[in-house]
Amino acid sequence: MPVLVMKFGGTSVANLDRIRRAAKRVGVEVAKGYDVIVIVSAMSGKTNELVGWVNETSPLSDAREYDAVVSSGENVTAGLMALTLQEMDVPARSWQGWQVPVKTNGAHSAARIEEIPTDNITAKFGEGMKVAVVAGFQGISPEGRITTLGRGGSDTTAVAFAAAFDAERCDIYTDVDGVYTTDPRICEKARKLDKISFEEMLELASLGAKVLQTRSVELAMRYKVKLRVLSSFEEQSDAAGTLVCDEEEIMESNVVAGVAYSRDESKVTVMSVADRPGIAAKIFTTLSDAGVNVDMIVQNISEDGRTDMTFSCPQDQVARAENALGAIKGDGGLNFAELVVDPGVAKVSVVGIGMRSQSGVAAKMFRVLSDEGINIKVITTSEIKISVLIDRKYMELAVQALHDAFELDKVA
Ligand code: ADP
Ligand code: ASP
Ligand code: MG
Repeated sequence: MPVLVMKFGGTSVANLDRIRRAAKRVGVEVAKGYDVIVIVSAMSGKTNELVGWVNETSPLSDAREYDAVVSSGENVTAGLMALTLQEMDVPARSWQGWQVPVKTNGAHSAARIEEIPTDNITAKFGEGMKVAVVAGFQGISPEGRITTLGRGGSDTTAVAFAAAFDAERCDIYTDVDGVYTTDPRICEKARKLDKISFEEMLELASLGAKVLQTRSVELAMRYKVKLRVLSSFEEQSDAAGTLVCDEEEIMESNVVAGVAYSRDESKVTVMSVADRPGIAAKIFTTLSDAGVNVDMIVQNISEDGRTDMTFSCPQDQVARAENALGAIKGDGGLNFAELVVDPGVAKVSVVGIGMRSQSGVAAKMFRVLSDEGINIKVITTSEIKISVLIDRKYMELAVQALHDAFELDKVA
């Protein structure tokens, strides 16, 4: 039997009624002759609640226990989904990550899937089971502890199962009917795309578009998984959604494919450090050892042999960055005057493979922001994206103005 993977996100399993609607959809695919692997998220809001409980109990928590707690939301929905399917006379059972087992590395709270043995589930399909419901987001480490894959990780579970089982398709059911030119929740002119290339989706995801977890797109690209994003709310079960595919399969595209944002960023400046070899290495090794995910970096021109070093990182990691740099101040020649933290920034990015061959996109982006009176604090570029750090209060405005200026509401 051909295998299909269907993943239902938090809002699609938010209550028993939604679980029933999702299960009906699964039933439709079973009736077509598929063996289905259903990946479920926790009910919407559940994972946030669990994270909150952990932080309240133990702010610098043991990451293994963090995973033990936050993975539990998915266990509930997996069991409920299997029960709902059984009530519909569809032979189904649930699997927690460790039962499959979804083998991951030991990087708790951000683990990577290393292997998914297929024999267990395949044997059950052979015995007449039609649906394997698997709890997303979780796995088991080489030490036998429960791991989680990072926020949004059920998408990655889904794609990894599709690759392991050589599934015909991996369908990601969510609360929007596809991938849009930007987040439809902050820009009403956002347009749904029929197709988007892996490269562009990868950039959009890593720059903040949470519709797919970045790692899931990486895996789909590597293992050539046919990946589709669609709504679990539309009545019509064959609404096409968005196909994430190879660049060659897309006939026409705009120079800019989409705009992404990341709201909760901070900018930190290490004031007046010596401008000599080894200083940047010292600062950024220290931050990396402390588990700070540094994103953008700029070094100012130096005066009298001293310079300022600015970097950005997620807002909730600033305290860790301050502690780590504070601890090495004066140590091994790292003298700096002070740390200046700007906690109220956001990152806005434009993405498009057309930028490889067309110049002027950066100039246009900066002009648009300046016309809106928005000051740019830091800039980074790559072959197919340009990102800027701006005051958070202008984030929505910047996204909408860029969406208008690059005419993303129109098909190229
Ligand atoms: P799920 O719980 O189903 O995994 P998520 O909340 O993780 O859903 O992701 C879906 C959300 O992603 C949408 O509700 C939307 O607000 C947001 N989003 C951000 N950027 C985009 C985009 N470019 N296209 C579609 N959705 C986007
Ligand atoms: N429940 C997890 C989260 O909210 C994983 C997921 O939904 O993808 O991050
Ligand atoms: Mg998600």
